[in-house]
Amino acid sequence: MQHQPPTHLNPRSPLVLDTRELPRRPGAMRKVSRSVPAPADLGLALIGVPAGATLSLDLRMESVSEGVLVSGTVAGPVEGECGRCLNQIGDTITVSVQELYAYEHSTTDETTDEDEVGRLQGDLIDLEPAVRDAVVLALPANPLCREDCPGLCAECGLPLADLPADHTHEQVDARWAALSKLNIEE
Ligand SMILES: [Zn+2]
Ligand SMILES: [Zn+2]
Repeated sequence: MQHQPPTHLNPRSPLVLDTRELPRRPGAMRKVSRSVPAPADLGLALIGVPAGATLSLDLRMESVSEGVLVSGTVAGPVEGECGRCLNQIGDTITVSVQELYAYEHSTTDETTDEDEVGRLQGDLIDLEPAVRDAVVLALPANPLCREDCPGLCAECGLPLADLPADHTHEQVDARWAALSKLNIEE
């Protein structure tokens, strides 16, 4: 992971949580339920959440001694392409998120790396990296339209699932083979 310089978070960004309403007293808790548009590139090469699709956040923010623990679920639609037959795949995913965000200047802030423990920026939490990690982990690197997708015919490239079971390119007769050769050469 690359270190990113601190950026100013916009409290109105869909994936930024504002903790001002959450007392900084261990045990204090606030629920966050909202629907937000998905950021771009949320997913992998072959499958992901389309940019702008609705993500449903169902989270709780809890004060702990060194920061805020965010936990709950994020759900949304995914679209992709079958790795075998290239058919479109549509599905939904629900991923769990659990992430600690340390207060600025807390002991945790000063003794851990930002890659290990997230940071609050003032009162704000940037949830996007955690959501991104959870979604990417939940998605298959090689998505399939169905578990037993037979893929494409190696000869003609059509999806085998759409072809009759006896689909074949074997030449039964030498004369036909000669004919089809002629056709190709035309
Ligand atoms: Zn398929
Ligand atoms: Zn074929």
